[in-house]
Amino acid sequence: MPFEQWLAGRIPGVDYARVSADPSARSATRRRLREAGTGVRHQHEDNLETAARLGIAIVASFEDNSMSAVNPHVVRQAFREIIAALLFRQTQDGLPVRAVIATERERVWRTESDGLAFQQAVTVMSDGLFVERGKPYEWPGPQQAVPGALSGEQEVENTRRRIGRSVRRRAIDGSSPGGRRRFGWQAADPTLGVQVNMLMDTAEWPILCKMIEAGLQGIPWKEIARRLNADGVLTASGKAWSGETVRQALVNPVLCGYRAIHGELVLDPTTGRPVVGKWDKPASVPEWQRLVEISRARGATRGTRLSNGSPKPGGTVGRPRKYLFSGTLRCGAATASADPCLQRMGGVRRPTSADPDNAVYTCTRLGCGRTARNMRSVDEYLTRMVLSVMDERRRSSPMHAVARPGAEVLRRLYEELRLLDDRLLAESGTDSALVLHRHGLLERIALLEATQTARTNGEPEQACIPSAWPDMSLAERRAAIETVLECVVVHPLPPGRSRCAPFDPGLLEIRYREWVRPVAAGSAGLAARNDSRS
Ligand SMILES: [Zn+2]
Repeated sequence: MPFEQWLAGRIPGVDYARVSADPSARSATRRRLREAGTGVRHQHEDNLETAARLGIAIVASFEDNSMSAVNPHVVRQAFREIIAALLFRQTQDGLPVRAVIATERERVWRTESDGLAFQQAVTVMSDGLFVERGKPYEWPGPQQAVPGALSGEQEVENTRRRIGRSVRRRAIDGSSPGGRRRFGWQAADPTLGVQVNMLMDTAEWPILCKMIEAGLQGIPWKEIARRLNADGVLTASGKAWSGETVRQALVNPVLCGYRAIHGELVLDPTTGRPVVGKWDKPASVPEWQRLVEISRARGATRGTRLSNGSPKPGGTVGRPRKYLFSGTLRCGAATASADPCLQRMGGVRRPTSADPDNAVYTCTRLGCGRTARNMRSVDEYLTRMVLSVMDERRRSSPMHAVARPGAEVLRRLYEELRLLDDRLLAESGTDSALVLHRHGLLERIALLEATQTARTNGEPEQACIPSAWPDMSLAERRAAIETVLECVVVHPLPPGRSRCAPFDPGLLEIRYREWVRPVAAGSAGLAARNDSRS
């Protein structure tokens, strides 16, 4: 059935549901008192009923599960999607949107800034409709505060955000990490102008270096702790060492001058490279990376809790990697138990006299290291596979047919602006209400254009990656690869095959992300054709 026929004159809209994770709603007393039917499913059912009653056709449903709408650090993905859909007056699939339904407005926003963003999106054109509590919502006048916003808590959040910003700014400056004294560094000494954690403590420094050395040798954290305690060495807070405190000290990026906040490395906003602090550093960057790898490998095989350390366990967020596919490749060698090793493979330079830039990907597991592959061949082959999948996806995407999202809304706003300017010109620009209206119109146009740009930049899969590839940075390429590949298992060379034999792509087992698989199947033929041509 054609879409217009299905719509049958109804208003196209989306519905939004959110299960609260706000602390107040989580408390046991509140939960007992809370009325039944606030779960996501009930909210959607309510919304569908309301939609049917008001002649709205739901073209897409959005929900944020167990998400607080108060904490500004929590990214509500569905909320962001819905803002964009309303601004552009179309969903990502290109379906029209004019209305949005929620059971109560508190489901949608709890902070003033979210409330304003939502209002701007709904009212970007005058046909926008927000339905809550079963009826169309009347927006307050411009002077009134947005209802539903928690002004007191908002203030707390603002303060928290300001503090967070200043911590990050200080980190970007490369000045002292601040906070509590760390083992190995001196405490603050205001009389000498010494900040905490900047200068080495001469007594503890050699011990810290020995700890790093032991960690790099693969000695268990517990054993390192046992030796420290046997020598009567105490932590910076004066306690005995445990395996976990040793591990935390040794995976901390401050060892090599890097800094992490909430598990993410602090990057220089202009270069995108990690900021290197000015404090004394007991380890090199590769040494610290190796310690993190060791920690991860242990956590993965023994289920150790890794949630306290930084950087984020298991994640690759913000970790500097020098090579395109390091971290994507997994070692396919069989272990003693006959299961594949599956350790992440890292890049290593192996200069030869014929090729000083030669490098290989190799298994990083202690005691394995049985799989290695020429980096240039792997990069060339996998890049071609990834780009062909992306190209296929772009051409089969409904968005490909649609122009830039929101183009139609923009066209209409510019048209309105043109008519307005004609009127102002005719009345020689004296009508203050019209001037004010024009100001608001320009603001909406700017907002829409900024959102378009942000979405195109922030979501590489929306942009035309194959043509942008040559200009993309390593980090951008790695991020794009991550959207397509789950991992690639590198199988060892079959027995008897020379290490000088030509590169064999058949030994690379590509595991695509689930939602890419149908596309990958379609583009496999294409990639194979490209293959035979090159
Ligand atoms: Zn291995």
